[in-house]
Amino acid sequence: MSEVRSCPGLVSAHSHAFQRAIRGRTEQPSGVGQDTFWTWREAMYQAANRLSPEDIYDVSRMTFLEMALAGITAVGEFHYLHNAPDGTRYDDSNLLAKQVIRAATDVGLRIVLLNTAYVRGGQPRFLTPSIDDFIRDTEDLRGCSTELVSIGVAPHSVRAVPLDYLRGVIGYAQTNDLPIHMHLAEQPAEIEVCLDEYGMRPVELLYRNDLLSSSFTGVHVIHVIEDEIGYLAETGARVCACPTTERNLGDGAVPADRYFDRGVPVCLGSDSNVQIDILEDARELEYHLRMKRLERALLEPDGLFNSATQAGRESLKLPANKDYFTVDPNDPSIAGGADIVFSTGRSAIRDVYVNGRQLVGNGRHAQQDEIIARFKAVQKRSFRPN
Ligand SMILES: [Zn+2]
Repeated sequence: MSEVRSCPGLVSAHSHAFQRAIRGRTEQPSGVGQDTFWTWREAMYQAANRLSPEDIYDVSRMTFLEMALAGITAVGEFHYLHNAPDGTRYDDSNLLAKQVIRAATDVGLRIVLLNTAYVRGGQPRFLTPSIDDFIRDTEDLRGCSTELVSIGVAPHSVRAVPLDYLRGVIGYAQTNDLPIHMHLAEQPAEIEVCLDEYGMRPVELLYRNDLLSSSFTGVHVIHVIEDEIGYLAETGARVCACPTTERNLGDGAVPADRYFDRGVPVCLGSDSNVQIDILEDARELEYHLRMKRLERALLEPDGLFNSATQAGRESLKLPANKDYFTVDPNDPSIAGGADIVFSTGRSAIRDVYVNGRQLVGNGRHAQQDEIIARFKAVQKRSFRPN
């Protein structure tokens, strides 16, 4: 009988936990003409406005439970739900961020709460118009840090954050050595808007303003030209690919072959959480390129496993740790198989440990039934009965 195999914990470096609430609810034609990322976004906005603070806890806990069951031990949560739906700041302006942190802590995951600056567009619930408020909120959140909780910043995107504000947020993060994450070059329309406003593409805009560094992770970074890849390589900046979400939204394929060639680290995120399986994301990073290039075996499997683990940890500035999961060698998905990335199905993941604490034993989490029941109640209340 073969031995149980231990692997370092997987990292989802980019997640919006609340979007788990709309899984499977946005796959029908919306009836407004051509469905794209932008029509999906309308459905996501409606969900974002429907959830109460307690709902956000319950939905986040469901997402983090699923992550734990999938061998994920750390999450970078790109958090932009800040206000009441009408835009009023809560008495504690970090109320919702703290609900998300509490959800991760109760499940037992490591979390890096990436406090998101959203300044224009979007929904009133997302907005922090004053950079002083944003920095004060972030400082307050840093007071919640523990061995398993840390804080970073996330200017949402070039379209949502004007350049002056962006400089302020990134300067603050660099002074305090915080990770900086930002959606970048996800959709062609975003490139067009940036060209109109600044006369430059998004990655070039950041480069010319000295905003790229090894603390910076661009999320998606799909629609880039060769010069932009050079700017990322030169500054030590990183990329977070989210292939499952990117194909779900019709974003395009991350040019991971070009990033790997130029030494730009690529980590992975479950993003919209439409499915949660970081090893599947690692496979897709390769498979999407196969479809595009009509070739095979473009990225090294060891490099893909590094994307699923160490690259995510480094992007989030998490220290080396002993978090791990075990794989059942007799699971049908992996029995007799050699490579973890290309063989392992989620059912093979048996035990998961974070910081010495066992979260998952024999494929189950101790609070699983209660977390699922609470999540189903939110769904029933907020959407339609299942
Ligand atoms: Zn995202």
